[in-house]
Amino acid sequence: MKFSEMPYTRVDMEKVKAQFEELITRASNASSREEAFEIHKEQYQLTNDIYTNIILCNVRHDIDTTDAFYEKEKHYYDEITPLISELSNRYQKVLFASPYRSYLEAQISKVAFKNIEIALKSFDEKLIPLMQEENQLVSRYDKLIATAKIPFDGEIYNLSLMTPFTTSNDRDTRKRAWAAVSEYFQSVTEEIDEIYDKMVKNRTKQAKLLGYENYIELGYYRMGRNCYDRTMVENFRRQVKESFVPFASRFHEERRERLNIDTLKFYDNGVYFLNGNPAPTGTPEEILAEGQKMYAELSPETKEFFDFMQENELFDVLGRKTKKQGGYMTFFPNYRSPFIFANFNGTSGDVDVITHECGHAFQGFVTRNEEILENNDIGMETAEIHSMSMEYFTYDWMERFFGDRADEYRKMHLADSVIFVPYGCMVDEFQHIVYANPEMTPQERKQVWAELEKTYRPHLDYDNDPFFENGGYWQRQAHIFQMPFYYIDYVLASICAMQFKVQMDEDFKKAWENYLSLCKLSAKDFYTNMIKQVGLNSPFEDGCISELVAKLEKKAF
Ligand code: ZN
Repeated sequence: MKFSEMPYTRVDMEKVKAQFEELITRASNASSREEAFEIHKEQYQLTNDIYTNIILCNVRHDIDTTDAFYEKEKHYYDEITPLISELSNRYQKVLFASPYRSYLEAQISKVAFKNIEIALKSFDEKLIPLMQEENQLVSRYDKLIATAKIPFDGEIYNLSLMTPFTTSNDRDTRKRAWAAVSEYFQSVTEEIDEIYDKMVKNRTKQAKLLGYENYIELGYYRMGRNCYDRTMVENFRRQVKESFVPFASRFHEERRERLNIDTLKFYDNGVYFLNGNPAPTGTPEEILAEGQKMYAELSPETKEFFDFMQENELFDVLGRKTKKQGGYMTFFPNYRSPFIFANFNGTSGDVDVITHECGHAFQGFVTRNEEILENNDIGMETAEIHSMSMEYFTYDWMERFFGDRADEYRKMHLADSVIFVPYGCMVDEFQHIVYANPEMTPQERKQVWAELEKTYRPHLDYDNDPFFENGGYWQRQAHIFQMPFYYIDYVLASICAMQFKVQMDEDFKKAWENYLSLCKLSAKDFYTNMIKQVGLNSPFEDGCISELVAKLEKKAF
């Protein structure tokens, strides 16, 4: 069905509550295993009906934020979604305690039941007041960052509008732009310190109320980690320190030479070429048209996917004034349709939408007819493999988007991906230290960050900047505030995507088949099992990182 024709009806909370309660009663009294499973399938339909409407409302609101109708509807859902979660939790508790558990586990999946177990371990009603306070702290941080007013060259900018200047190919411009950003952070760093201090103490209190030693274990459960723990992540970071940091340094060194400068300074971050980073040559319409041709050539499955997206109006990617900023991929369950939202702005980010977001959407398309909803309940460390790998699978088509700068684009993309790995691990290790030592002062936290920089980003020279030199950089990393321990998911996924890159350099067809298998596996098994099934090494196991580096190095330099 075309997006414009998808009917929207407001979710009637009274009705939903009655339907859920009926399901909960019937599930508690089910007299056979088959009956229990039938009730579970009714629950799928109810959930799909609810979320199809909520997601439609969100998307239509994002497409035109001035639309008063969907604005009102969105406020309504802000109110009722916690109530829906509460009903769904109650249902899950009954399912988890079912006498037909082993049959249900076989029909649904082991993973699904493990996830319920984790969800139950991470929540208790007595946490609600603390969780509300936690949400308020997150909103305070978000608002502070979103309303930043940075004077620069006679104009006032917010942080995201400063990006063209902080990555300008004119070195003096970016140096001054970073100084302006630094000055802004110096003016608010005390408030950010205060917010973060309260967050750390709040989260620690929640953990203690549930009987945990500190927030780390609870944080892992909140992230839905169902197959790896703190020690395994620690081993992963150790490997990155040993093998990946020196690898990343080679890319920095190459960048330094190319930019023709003596010492890389922090304001040279994200800058790859003297004449500026490669940008797409075509109009947004041309990018979409080239995307369609590219996916037709890549594989029969991707052709079917992209044609389906175009025929059903499932892209809204052109920048418009009344559109919400940013980009994402989502899914309408009842229409079995992925949807991509973006704001093209003429940078290489537009092509990322066609590669990265389409990777997510392609996976959603491939598994759209899955009857068992839990099988598509994908963890971030898996979902980002689908998207990040597609960035590599489409490398050979980059001439269509970047013309004679395609090679430079590929160089920049690989360097950027490699450089990200140590940074992502640093963000993760920082949070482990912070939550293991909740009594640290803000000054001590900054000291921790400054020390970690020496290990993970030894090339970095902060040029005596009073904010960044003293361990302040993490205060711009929103994930640290919004979703503790989230960041490592991107790194774990990236390591797998790079392994697909190695596979495709050796045998493209085979690599594609493996990738397609991973997409189809969706969330049917645990991350650590699925990656092995498609020929990838587990990032947690010794040797994975050094082997990957050795193979990438051969092609990269
Ligand atoms: Zn993504």
